[in-house]
Amino acid sequence: MNEVILAKNGEIALKGLNRGTFEDVLMKNIRWRLKDCGAFSVTKSQSTITVRPKDEDADLDEACQRMGRIFGIAAYSRALVTEKDMEVIRREAVSYFRQSLESARTFKVNAKRSDKAFPYKSPDIQQLLGETLLDAYPHLKVDVHHPEVSVNVEIRDQNAFLHGNQLPGAGGMPVSTSGEALLLISGGIDSPVAGWMMARRGVKLSAIHFQSPPYTSDRALDKVETLLSKVSGYAGDIQFYCVPFTRLQEALRDHCPEELFTILMRRLMVKIAVRVAEAHELPALITGESLGQVASQTMLALAATNAAADRPVFRPLIGMDKSDIVRIARQIDTFETSILPYEDCCTIFTPRRPKIRPSLEAVEAAEARFDFAPLLEEAIAGIQVKTIHVRQG
Ligand code: ATP
Ligand code: MG
Repeated sequence: MNEVILAKNGEIALKGLNRGTFEDVLMKNIRWRLKDCGAFSVTKSQSTITVRPKDEDADLDEACQRMGRIFGIAAYSRALVTEKDMEVIRREAVSYFRQSLESARTFKVNAKRSDKAFPYKSPDIQQLLGETLLDAYPHLKVDVHHPEVSVNVEIRDQNAFLHGNQLPGAGGMPVSTSGEALLLISGGIDSPVAGWMMARRGVKLSAIHFQSPPYTSDRALDKVETLLSKVSGYAGDIQFYCVPFTRLQEALRDHCPEELFTILMRRLMVKIAVRVAEAHELPALITGESLGQVASQTMLALAATNAAADRPVFRPLIGMDKSDIVRIARQIDTFETSILPYEDCCTIFTPRRPKIRPSLEAVEAAEARFDFAPLLEEAIAGIQVKTIHVRQG
């Protein structure tokens, strides 16, 4: 059977003159994501990208699965390629749609004819094919508004394509079309979701994690890597920076007012993240903060954190309820990992009464009580780097 995958662009279609570039990045991303499921050709015409197996060994099932996680694709479907001959189309449609039509009650035929030289117009194709399918499956009824099965026929330049209901794509924009940013990832529920959301807006991700052994365990670090590998299923390879943070946290505990501990810690994280971002030309940071979720995420606390950054800090969850965040975490399969109960560096030395409205002056004054610079340099020098490779399937 000669089958292909047809993918429709999402928002790329709105990009006017840049559209070609966006489509090229999307095609490159598709090629890269399918490279180990066999040989495929990836081509575009009009607003459709066609993924065509080059030989028998190409794994179309696996390719189909992966297409659902590639940002920039609004919808896609598996399609049968046939000759542009009405008799052949009728015959092929009867067998190609057998399984879905036998178990359905209603259907509808949609026809699209981009090759205007084809002797039948779209309404004629719909009518002829509709009759053929009603003859072959007499239990069916036509429902033009809410059909259980859509039978789609597209008459293009070289071939005709038959496909059923479209599958929803991951939406958004192709990864890398919006630049790169550094995700501050903890082991919690929020930050992986924040990374996924920005990747969906076309951002290529790098990630940074602050670790405080022996207060935090190796298993906590494994958890973060598992979370990143799940996000990579959508976002592609992720460069991962792991920062030894213990000495800085101990210095904070020993030298700064307890009620400001979390906010001062967050500023140290941001300062280190900025240094990494600078070194690797990453113009923005991403966090999983959400307004009012905890004491360090009030408006003034966020302002104090921002003051430590010299570049935009993207907080895609800022206006979301926890329940909405959890829903996405389940959808992208990070939730079960996030709730594993390992200590995070944020949960050690947590202040009993954190300050909810810290003024920037008070924060800076508290920070000035100790010279953090040498420990900050030591932490940066101790950063470990690795690549989290895209997780397929
Ligand atoms: P999350 O699910 O992201 O942990 P949270 O509600 O636990 O969210 P906080 O612990 O207050 O949030 O952290 C807020 C944000 O700060 C996180 O979303 C993350 O971006 C960053 N962050 C917190 N801890 C770390 C860490 N150990 N390493 C890197 N980034 C961190
Ligand atoms: Mg956390």
